[in-house]
This record gives sequence, C-alpha cells and structure tokens, in this order.
Amino acid sequence: MAVDPTKLRETVSTAVWELHSCTHRQLTELGLPIPTEDTGTKSQRLEACLKALPDDDLLQAAQRLLHSPHASARDKERFALEDAVWDAETVIEIPGRARCELADAIDLDELLHRPDRFERALERFWHLDDDPNVGCPVFNTGVVDWARIHDSRFDVDRVPALLAQLERRDDADAWQELAWRLVLEGDLVFPAGFAALPQLVRLAPRSMQARALAGRILERAAGHHACDDLLADCAGTITEFGETLDRHLRSRPADYLVSFRALLAVAQEYHWANAIEGFTDDIYELECPHCAAAMKIAVGRFGCYAQVWDSDEELRRELRPAVAEELTGTGRGMHRTAVRDGQGALADGIAHLFGDAQCPVCASVFNIADEYTHANRPAAFIDRVFFSAQDTGAGASPSRPADGVGTRPYAAPGTKPRRQGP
Ligand SMILES: [Zn+2]
Repeated sequence: MAVDPTKLRETVSTAVWELHSCTHRQLTELGLPIPTEDTGTKSQRLEACLKALPDDDLLQAAQRLLHSPHASARDKERFALEDAVWDAETVIEIPGRARCELADAIDLDELLHRPDRFERALERFWHLDDDPNVGCPVFNTGVVDWARIHDSRFDVDRVPALLAQLERRDDADAWQELAWRLVLEGDLVFPAGFAALPQLVRLAPRSMQARALAGRILERAAGHHACDDLLADCAGTITEFGETLDRHLRSRPADYLVSFRALLAVAQEYHWANAIEGFTDDIYELECPHCAAAMKIAVGRFGCYAQVWDSDEELRRELRPAVAEELTGTGRGMHRTAVRDGQGALADGIAHLFGDAQCPVCASVFNIADEYTHANRPAAFIDRVFFSAQDTGAGASPSRPADGVGTRPYAAPGTKPRRQGP
C-alpha cells in the first residue's frame, strides 16, 4: 500500500522530537543524520536532523524508531509509526476458506489459560459484524465441527472435502456426490446438509448447483431431521440466501423455477416450495371444506379446473382465478415477483392457485390456497418473512386464519399426485 510521505514525515518528526533526552551516541545509533555534537543545542540538532532526513529514508527511520530501546514513542505516536510501517508492507490476502480452516484448527482451550476472557476481549476490540470482508467467525465460535456431523452415509470427512474441492473449481461428479450425501432421495436431509449451508450460500451467486442444493435442503427444513439447533444457527445464512435468490430472479435466469422455489423455502412457505412445478401440469389434492369430497385441482396448459370422479363419471368445474390487485399475503408476494420477472405462465398459475374453486359435488365455493395451506403447511419455528411487506399486503382469508398451520405432513417432492382419467 502507498504511504503518504507528508503524513510519514509528520509521524517520524513527532517521534524524533521525543528523543531530546537521548545522548548523542544513542541518537547516532538510530541511523538518523545527526549533526556533530558541538553544533548548537540538542533541539537545534534534532531540527537539523529532521531537515537532513530525505523522504526516501523516512520509512527506514520509522522502523528503527519502533524497534530502538532508546525511542519512547507510546500510545498514539507508536500506533501512528506502526500504521505507517505496516501500510508500506505487502498485503497478503488470506481467502475466507483458509481463515475458516485456520479457525477450525485452533483449539483455544489448549492455546490459552482463559479462552473465555480472550473471546470477550476479542469481541470488545474487534467488531467483526462491521467488517464485510469477514466471511466466517474467528476461532472456534460458530465454526463447524465436521468430526461430529455425519452425512447420509454416516461419513464425517467427505462433505467438507467435497465443499473445499467445489470452492476451488466446479465439478459435476463432486456436486452429484455432495447432493446425495446431504439430501437422500425424497425427504431426508442430514445434519451435514445444514452444516454445509453457509458454504453453499457463499457459492450460490455464481453456481446453479449450489442454489439448487441449498434450496433442496431448505425445502426440507420443516421435516423431521432433528437438526433444529443447526438450522437455527443458519438464520443469517438463510437471509443472505434469500437476498441472493431475489437478485438472481430479477435476471430472469434459466433456473428460475428452482430459484423461485428456494426463495419460497427461505420464506418458510415450505408447502408451496415443495408443490409448485411451474404450472405446466400442476395437480393439487384437496378436500372440499363443506362436503369433504376428495378432489384434484388442475392448473396447467391442459386446463384449470376442480375434478372429482364419481365412479366412471368425471365432474369438473372451471377455476376462478384471483384478480391480481385483490391478492394478499403470500399469494400477492409470489404473484408480484413472477410478474416483475416476466414469468407470465407462473404468474397466471399463481393467480389460479390463489383464486377460488367450486366443488363439483356440492357447488360450494372456496379459496384453493387457503385449503391447501391449511392442510399442508408445516408449523413454522423461525419468524422469517422474505417477501417484503408491500408485496404481501395484509389480512387473512375469510375461510382460514392467516397463520393456519397444517394438520398433515406437507407434500414432499416426488409424492405429488398425478392427473387422473382421460
Ligand atoms: Zn363439496
């Protein structure tokens, strides 16, 4: 880093003026251009010395002043000298991953007599929250202890190795192995999945695979994984992932639907994150809230209708899509995001999903999203709403409360019902 010569001269001058108690010999040992002893008073000699000191020698003088036992620069003067010397040194960038590995390797209990006091002092003097360059916590705080976190094969070493490999370079085989080690087919997410989230989210802005895998993990966050503590530790990471996804969606990317579903999982709309398939041919199973008839709601290019089979007879009623301006809550947030990003088919599907259906059996009319949410939404355990307040509007539907929580397990991917009949 370049050093300001004026500032450096000022710093060195302040330190040199403090040398008035030094003997002539001590002053000459400092390598300063001190005039001969019989030239005026000591102050005059120090003044003459500073005048004779060329700019090119200032840095060397600062280094000597720092290390000399005769110089007595303290507090502000010493810090200024140190800053000047350090500014001139070559900066060695340490990548975030290396810092994390170092932090992981250091055992504070072994290194220090009172690690608790050290960590308190560190928090007092080093405000990492304000430092955008710090990608992971210092020392052991919050660092993943991979030795205790297993993947789907009950291994503890492969996931950190794969993550390190993928941070260095993209590799399709490594992504594939990582995916099945973190999330087994269907519903199961393993502790290593949540432990890997921070690194996946760091890769998410530049990696489609990282976005998809982090999304798959979060889509299963409401399942029975016994990792609530690991998930709670990821709150900041999940918020960061939401911001990354929102920026990514605005660019209308090829992986729009996958990223949209991941954003729904970030917002804890797990039942939608696991159900929406892009409305090419989406099917949602419901019961009529009035007569309990089991029906399928179809939304896609083959039509948008409620369907009930009575023996061999198909009963159908067309859906009544919501008017965009009248949408509230999650539906409004989802619809506005899709419209903003030019996703016409998705926006149209959402309008149907958050609109009304008429029961083909009893002819009663009900809101599809309310019924599906009531039946499928898992209990939320972290208060996190990602769609912004102006996007979601307010208020609950007349038929279901706004905080309606599911009474059944949510529909996991791969368990979606299929269209039935001709
Ligand atoms: Zn009915």
